[in-house]
Amino acid sequence: MKYNILLLIGIFLLSSCHQNSENAASSSEHKSTKHSVEKVEYAMVIHGGAGTILKKNMTEEMEQSYVATLNEALDTGASVLSKGGSALDAVTEVIKLMEDSPLFNAGKGSVFTNAGTNEMDASIMMGIDQNAGAIGGVTNVKNPITAARKVLENSEHVLLTGQGAELFAEQQGCEMVDPSYFSTERRLKSLERAKAKENMGFHEETEESKHFKYGTVGCVALDKAGNIVAGTSTGGMTNKRYNRVGDSPIIGAGTYADNATCGISSTGHGEYFIRYAVAYDIAARMEYKGISIEEAAKEVVMEKLVKKGGSGGVVGLDSNGNITMTFNTPGMYRGYIKPGERQVKIYKE
Ligand code: ASP
Repeated sequence: MKYNILLLIGIFLLSSCHQNSENAASSSEHKSTKHSVEKVEYAMVIHGGAGTILKKNMTEEMEQSYVATLNEALDTGASVLSKGGSALDAVTEVIKLMEDSPLFNAGKGSVFTNAGTNEMDASIMMGIDQNAGAIGGVTNVKNPITAARKVLENSEHVLLTGQGAELFAEQQGCEMVDPSYFSTERRLKSLERAKAKENMGFHEETEESKHFKYGTVGCVALDKAGNIVAGTSTGGMTNKRYNRVGDSPIIGAGTYADNATCGISSTGHGEYFIRYAVAYDIAARMEYKGISIEEAAKEVVMEKLVKKGGSGGVVGLDSNGNITMTFNTPGMYRGYIKPGERQVKIYKE
């Protein structure tokens, strides 16, 4: 009798356990299938910085140059991805192209530090294994993204800075240039304006200073093999001092990639993006809450960051090629491409 009762209790416990695990399985399945669509063959999304980008402040000629360069960047990435090339190559090539353009605050066209120099940061990350490479505060590497990639591929470290990063880049065969290569008239003027304001004791937070122009560049790609790679490159913030490093080379803040969730590249007021681990937070919300990339990006950029006073935006994509281009500033240079679909935009719609 005693034995029978024990047996019955055992059967009851086993069956309730089985039921619970079925429930758990179905709820997690529900979560992971809720937002899934068919995987597109490949996809890529880019940004050229967020900020007070308003049509009324833009000349026709400037607007056309931005649109043309963003389109060129999309074509470059698509030609790698459509032939079955890797997301790593697509992101590197696209960011190189944007670094070479004086339009963006990355590579040529980087903003000036308070000391009148150009110090650049960049990072790149693979979604397949979370391998990552980043460099901070380099002054003579023509394409900082190539140095970040060398850190990813050929070093046991993740982030190298200053002269050490420059030495490593040179040893790895990256193209080196004289620091004067990065100097542009436009960015010199921005530094002069920033210094003049500072000298006048103008520290108040105005609409303009709050939504400063962040011209960082970023790219996230999904290749035919299903791998996501994200990368970001910047000159940082105008008038920065003390070897300030922003979010762009910080994995989890400026850049993050995980094939299981998404890839993200950020642009904006770096200090906030570091404090709130913006790129990682978006991926984590997708994983823990089972929400879509669009919902996760909105929660972080439009709710959390706005509440905290952090301006900027992100671009990203998930493993099916769903795209997000979310920003809380008046504009963000941005675009994406998938087979048979492309978009380039500047202002808020
Ligand atoms: N996030 C960059 C930084 O803080 C700036 C930018 O996005 O333009 O260095």
